[in-house]
Amino acid sequence: MNYVSTRDKSIKVTAAKAIAQGISVEGGLFVPDEFPFLTEKDFENLKVLDYKGRAKYILKEFLNDFSEEEVDYCIEGAYTGSFDNEQPAPISLVGKNANILELWHGPTCAFKDLALQLLPYLLTTSTKKVNDGKKTVILVATSGDTGKAALEGFKDVPDTEILVFYPSDGVSPMQKLQMDSQAGENVHVCAIKGNFDDAQTGVKNIFTDNAVKAKLAENNMLFSSANSINWGRLAPQIVYYISAYCDLLERGEEIQDGFNIVVPTGNFGNILAAYYAKKMGVPVNKLICASNINNVLTDFINTGKYDRNRKFHTTISPSMDILISSNLERMLFELSGNNDKEVAELQASLSKNGAFTVSDSVKEKLQNLFWGGCCDDEATIATIGKYFSEFGYLCDTHTAVALNVYEQYIQNTGDDRPTVIASTASPYKFAKSVLSAVSEKQGDTEFNTVKLLSEETNTEIPAPIKALENAKVRFKEICEKDEMLSAVYSALSIN
Ligand SMILES: *Cc1c(COP(=O)(O)O)cnc(C)c1O
Repeated sequence: MNYVSTRDKSIKVTAAKAIAQGISVEGGLFVPDEFPFLTEKDFENLKVLDYKGRAKYILKEFLNDFSEEEVDYCIEGAYTGSFDNEQPAPISLVGKNANILELWHGPTCAFKDLALQLLPYLLTTSTKKVNDGKKTVILVATSGDTGKAALEGFKDVPDTEILVFYPSDGVSPMQKLQMDSQAGENVHVCAIKGNFDDAQTGVKNIFTDNAVKAKLAENNMLFSSANSINWGRLAPQIVYYISAYCDLLERGEEIQDGFNIVVPTGNFGNILAAYYAKKMGVPVNKLICASNINNVLTDFINTGKYDRNRKFHTTISPSMDILISSNLERMLFELSGNNDKEVAELQASLSKNGAFTVSDSVKEKLQNLFWGGCCDDEATIATIGKYFSEFGYLCDTHTAVALNVYEQYIQNTGDDRPTVIASTASPYKFAKSVLSAVSEKQGDTEFNTVKLLSEETNTEIPAPIKALENAKVRFKEICEKDEMLSAVYSALSIN
């Protein structure tokens, strides 16, 4: 197996190169040029393994230039001691057919931990192969969840420095505290006076500045990326969908006609991983793509036209407030039959006009695979309240969007076969909104809200959130947006 670029198939690299480099030189994304197919025998083998065993079995197929020992080392390191009860992805059955796949039992209480606990191991193993011993410098611009998950994953990883920039007024109080109190010798956090776009642009400018790259090289350092365009973040996500299927089999669930998967979607990374699991032989019927009121993907699935020229809404499910879903590019490559020219044209149209329309054949395939739906904040809150009062199940705002769209799907299609719903964050990360859905009471501080939520719902506060109450703030630096480069140099002790 090799990795090719979605915009130019003649570019072929190894897994290590794809992960170390993050993105192809001409802007395309790396995808495997062939996918392993799992047979009945494979599923028999997988069923009896624990999560780490399943991860090793599956990821070996994708890490073509890693040795077996290297794969084992990466997976043991990532998933030992970092998730509640050593269970990275447990399922809660709610009602008759809703299997809620809880992906938030890791150190930062969001599903990004599943990938970002592993990525540092994959990246350091890769850079050793292709970057001859240079120190890796990870720059991250974040609006909240990714920054914390990346910090937690990369803390104290040898030969690595990580710097996270976040907009000083653009993250929630809990997210800010999570980042500012981050432990680790190689971590650096800086708030900037500006919004998320300023942080993102600043990071991109530093990444692509040749003088900066030369200066890093002089100091035996090299930049890399931890965001979801990196294949090293997608591969770990395929594992939990295959693992969920194994858990359904283990439970003796009847799935001759397949099952559905619902994913609350922003950048299209998580639902793309579910599609790859289907491609590898997991009997998935429909992939249900759930959006909040930033419903660019719902419209795309229904019409074949992707159009980001619309109002941007700030919602109570902020990790899905996004109008450019960067991983959709990989899906377009699939739907067009690996047509790199077609993908390059669509992406060019997106950057020039903010829109593109796919061909009829692509649209037909898209609609066969996916069903799209959306809901607003009011419906999100109502859904949290409903699942709590009817089933005693408490979910966060993003998961509630998924559950709401799941109900719309059943109503529209009558298809009520077994369904896996990706639950992407702990309700305690969005305590204020969640509390308002289940109680009249209101907290006057963030931690009072958290405590009230626990009392009112009789659920436990996750340990990483509880620990934050007494956490010491380490990072107080706020810099101007044009001072980001000097913040980088100073963090790396380069002058
Ligand atoms: C990042 C995130 C999402 C969106 O996932 P994508 O892979 O970007 O589609 C959904 N929910 C939560 C809580 C997230 O942090």
